[in-house]
Amino acid sequence: MKYNCDLISDLLPLYKDEICSEASRKIVEEHLAECQDCKKMLNSLNDITIDEKIVKEKEEVIGTQARFFKRKSALAGSIIAMIFAIPILVCLIVNLATGAGLTWFFIVLAGILVAASLIIVPLMVPENKMFMTMGAFTASVIILLAIISVYTHGSWFLVAAPATLFGLTVLFAPFIVCRRPVNAYVKNHKGLAIMGAYTATFVLMMLCIGLYVGMSEFFPMAFAVSMPLVVMCWAFFVIIRYLRSNACVKTGLCIASAGALSGVLAMLASSAEASMSATGVVYSSGVSVPPVSIVALGLVIAGIGFLVRKNKGEKK
Ligand SMILES: [Zn+2]
Repeated sequence: MKYNCDLISDLLPLYKDEICSEASRKIVEEHLAECQDCKKMLNSLNDITIDEKIVKEKEEVIGTQARFFKRKSALAGSIIAMIFAIPILVCLIVNLATGAGLTWFFIVLAGILVAASLIIVPLMVPENKMFMTMGAFTASVIILLAIISVYTHGSWFLVAAPATLFGLTVLFAPFIVCRRPVNAYVKNHKGLAIMGAYTATFVLMMLCIGLYVGMSEFFPMAFAVSMPLVVMCWAFFVIIRYLRSNACVKTGLCIASAGALSGVLAMLASSAEASMSATGVVYSSGVSVPPVSIVALGLVIAGIGFLVRKNKGEKK
């Protein structure tokens, strides 16, 4: 044989795709006439093309199926929307016929919106289904509360709406951060995004409740009790999520930070107790274990964890 197989095997992909020079093509063909090994290699290269074709066809079939189901679910969504329209129309007519104007009709409308957000939105939205469904559900619940509040002439909406928002955030945030489009923005900081959403909606709720009950009595008390707990949750989160250490060190630091914050809480409680006793409110701090000993216990556990880690590192 004029040329060795290594050289021909380098040329084979170019020959297969018909992009080699005329001279190279002649060389390869001459060699293939004599060499069975290289002939086999060319056949296997052609097989790969067949595999690619199969994968492409499979993707096309899946795509067609997906489009088919999308059309079907959009159709089902439209039919259900039409069914929902019937009670809305009936209520509109009845309400107009019996009352001077539209009153409770809006409550029915908002109630049906809540149901529709859970059934119609996931069927009809083409993408980001979970995000859109949970968003639509939250918005429609808030709208329902607002309408009932207007209808009953109650200012309780100020308390109910942010409390509902906080509750739904607690429920939905862990699911929403894992799905499109939110996951593309938060990437590896899903926990941070959830904690941020919890804190923001919690603070909003506290502010609104404060406005509802009257600032002077509420804020010092509410923030003295809740803010140390929020800080503790953040301390736990940062230690567990971002500290690069073993479980023992993390546990110890969590216990120590809980001890430190319970100390702060006890101090705030005793000062609140002094001011509360004047107004006749009995307030007990209820801290039986001294915070200093909790901090010490946590630091001891963290210290043990640190030493274990160091020993392991030295052994390696
Ligand atoms: Zn060969």
